[in-house]
Amino acid sequence: MYFKKFPAILRNIYPDYLWRVNTEEKVMYLTFDDGPTPVITQEVLSLLKKFDAKATFFLLGKNIQTHPHIAHAIIDAGHSIGNHGYGHLNGWKTNNFTYFKDFLLAQQVLQEYTGYQTELYRPAYGRITHKQALKIMKTHQIVMMDVLGGDFDLKANSEEVFGNVIKHVQPGSIVCLHDSEKAWPRLSKALLLILEHFEQEGYQFKALHPTPLLSRATR
Ligand SMILES: [Zn+2]
Repeated sequence: MYFKKFPAILRNIYPDYLWRVNTEEKVMYLTFDDGPTPVITQEVLSLLKKFDAKATFFLLGKNIQTHPHIAHAIIDAGHSIGNHGYGHLNGWKTNNFTYFKDFLLAQQVLQEYTGYQTELYRPAYGRITHKQALKIMKTHQIVMMDVLGGDFDLKANSEEVFGNVIKHVQPGSIVCLHDSEKAWPRLSKALLLILEHFEQEGYQFKALHPTPLLSRATR
């Protein structure tokens, strides 16, 4: 069981996390977790290019290490990169020391293999304790989402993933998708449908950039 749209109450409990961007403009923020993945990430990149769409990729350190050239391709295409941890740990089941070490390792690998720094972090499974978050928020903006495509759900099909997205997106929405082997059978078609539909609706697809630390602290 997972939420397709995050309940407002959860968003209110953790207002320091970024759930969506506050705007009236028709802008949406597509995000892809768990890559880089050979072939699949490249397919996603070429689809995005066709629609002149920018997105944000939350990469796993272990996958950057094995496929650094794909991480480079994402950056070269003008998309944003975020830290998604090194080994995809579940914060609720991991002690703070191990969790923070995994976060730092991913940051180090990204820097070493791409020369790129990021101030965006998305916890694996969306699961992070408040203590873990407080430490990471000293340097990074924690990015959650307000719309889950559900492309990881083996019981769903592409039309259902597309349906989840059109039902819940509003201006400024952050949509969570996955450029992973597991999600691809649904994502490949759903992403095309999403891009076609929202382009017709007059939406722009933009990459996320961190808000300055100062304005975050004073919000
Ligand atoms: Zn993930």
